[in-house]
Amino acid sequence: GSGITLVKSGKLVTCTHLSYKPFQYTDGDKTVGFDVDLVDLVAKELKVDQEIFDTPFENITSGTVFTTNECDLAAAGMTINDERKAAIDFSEPYFDASQALLVKKDSGLKDLPDLKGKRLGVQQGTTGEAYANANSATHGYTVVQFEDLPLMETAVRTGAVDAAINDNGVLYDYVKEYPDTSVTKEFATGESYGIGMKKGNTALKTKVDEVLKKAKDNGDYDRIYEKWFGK
Ligand code: GLN
Repeated sequence: GSGITLVKSGKLVTCTHLSYKPFQYTDGDKTVGFDVDLVDLVAKELKVDQEIFDTPFENITSGTVFTTNECDLAAAGMTINDERKAAIDFSEPYFDASQALLVKKDSGLKDLPDLKGKRLGVQQGTTGEAYANANSATHGYTVVQFEDLPLMETAVRTGAVDAAINDNGVLYDYVKEYPDTSVTKEFATGESYGIGMKKGNTALKTKVDEVLKKAKDNGDYDRIYEKWFGK
């Protein structure tokens, strides 16, 4: 066989942190999104169904969800970095991202230097939080943590924070839905998303990478991209 052992027989259990639209979010009684469709290709190849398991983001990046055998994979718009690579293995990169700034359209705020003495929202445990913290002394803003993306986005609209930092893909999706907000700046952090899995699970990594490569070659990747990011 392939040497792939799954945590639940007949299922491919994917950990994520909801909600991270359009990568994964709840629509009715279903979890849908770009990452969900991509991992469905892996499930199909393994002839099983994907089951989504919602968990705190830090339980994924720390590798806990794999050491406790809760999940086979993690797909969470998750940036590959060295700190996380020490705890989990990643597939080949499947999506490029940078950090971006979300503000209320009428705020007049455009960039980090405009935030002196103001409140900047971040999502806890993310690369956006790290970026905001790394630049807070220079620009003199206060970093305010939120547990998930929707709470952070809503705080910008209600004025609980003056601006927020998160990945460009999710923020551009948000401003389409809420035209009273806008993305005024991107920070070239050069990030790539990877699908996470248990350290040393080379059989599964080989399969995931094979499926990603095939999807890029046969047009499946472009079709899924267009479905979630086409206007
Ligand atoms: N890409 C960012 C990170 O990896 C945010 C991911 C997320 O919030 N789901 O930290």
